[in-house]
Amino acid sequence: MSTAQLRLNKNQDRRLRFGHCWIYSNEVDTKATPLKGMEPGQAVDIVNHQGKWLGSGYANPHSLICARLVSRDREHPLTGSLLVHRLKIALSLRERMHTKPYYRLVFGESDGLPGLVVDRYGDLIVAQITTAGMERMKAEVVAAIEKVLKPVGILLRNDSSIRGQEGLDQYIELAAGKMPELLTLEEGGLKFQVQAQEGQKTGWFFDQADNRARMARYIRGGRVLDVCSYVGAWGVQAAAMGAKEVVCVDSSAGALEMVQANAALNDMSKKVSTERANAFDALRDLRSEREHFDLIILDPPAFIKRRKDTKEGTLAYKRLNQAAMQLLSKDGILITSSCSHHMSQENLLQLVQQAGRHNDRFVQLLEQGQQATDHPIHPAIPETAYLKSFYLRVLPAF
Ligand code: SAH
Repeated sequence: MSTAQLRLNKNQDRRLRFGHCWIYSNEVDTKATPLKGMEPGQAVDIVNHQGKWLGSGYANPHSLICARLVSRDREHPLTGSLLVHRLKIALSLRERMHTKPYYRLVFGESDGLPGLVVDRYGDLIVAQITTAGMERMKAEVVAAIEKVLKPVGILLRNDSSIRGQEGLDQYIELAAGKMPELLTLEEGGLKFQVQAQEGQKTGWFFDQADNRARMARYIRGGRVLDVCSYVGAWGVQAAAMGAKEVVCVDSSAGALEMVQANAALNDMSKKVSTERANAFDALRDLRSEREHFDLIILDPPAFIKRRKDTKEGTLAYKRLNQAAMQLLSKDGILITSSCSHHMSQENLLQLVQQAGRHNDRFVQLLEQGQQATDHPIHPAIPETAYLKSFYLRVLPAF
């Protein structure tokens, strides 16, 4: 495919000059360079309104983000060799920060590879492509991963619904080598397994690894409730960190089967139990049964996926936090997280404070965390910062 030109309207190059890489369709001079007729994933040279070259990337006429800049170096547009280069740069960060090969290796825009996520489970790779531009490079992406990592297998989890925004279909594909049913990883000195094909997203939520590690100092025996536990990443570690008893709640039966498997794998089965339920119902029922917990973990899915969900999503976070606080024992710890970019740190804290007041509790913020270092934040792209975790002490009102 030859390279087309994409000319921006006057002053619409500001965001790119400040380091961002997205172009919205209303920023393009479509008279000079019509988007219509361009193929999804088309390689483009991006120029300002005077024709000055800004960078190269790819376009998709069917997407609101109609193009993404990938390279500001004329000599190095998006090719297989650029992919290899960027993968190596991404790998060097992970190798510096991790002693074991279990991490997110590529986090899209933040690693200079918009539309690509790559997770590493030792010598097995699970990747996800979310843009037409990366989809067009699929063969090169697979070849680059093979060259840099020499993995035993590469699975493409291209079944995310956000692909719909780019007009892409959803599928799972074994792109290279072999892939067992279960992926194995280590975190916090424990072994975990997730299902390669049926697991959520790309399998494991590596973004919470640092926040989970922080939990150890808060556990002094006691009962722990892990809400939206998925495969037990928090809960099983809480048990290993010394909790007396852990209850994992999730709406997915498959996830809870893996909680049991992971508890067994780490000799924690006696301490860990599971309950399949909607989180809101489970919290209500536990309250009516007068259950109490010394530490509660709330790590729900994103309740605010798009800005327009803000009001409803905020209410859901508030209800969940309120309900959790009611279950805490007198001097309890609440670890609450939000992975919604549209829920700011300030708003989450305010909401937790309000939930405290509502329940006649006094809340102290002890620590806060963000996404782990294998999910670097691109300072020019606020959307790449999404995870917030608060460690709170909840007391009767002063
Ligand atoms: N805490 C997990 C990640 C959670 S992902 C970890 O650290 O690995 C979100 C989880 O919430 C998924 O397992 C999903 O099945 C579950 N879930 C989504 N909506 C739910 C609901 N309303 N009630 C209970 N669980 C829910």
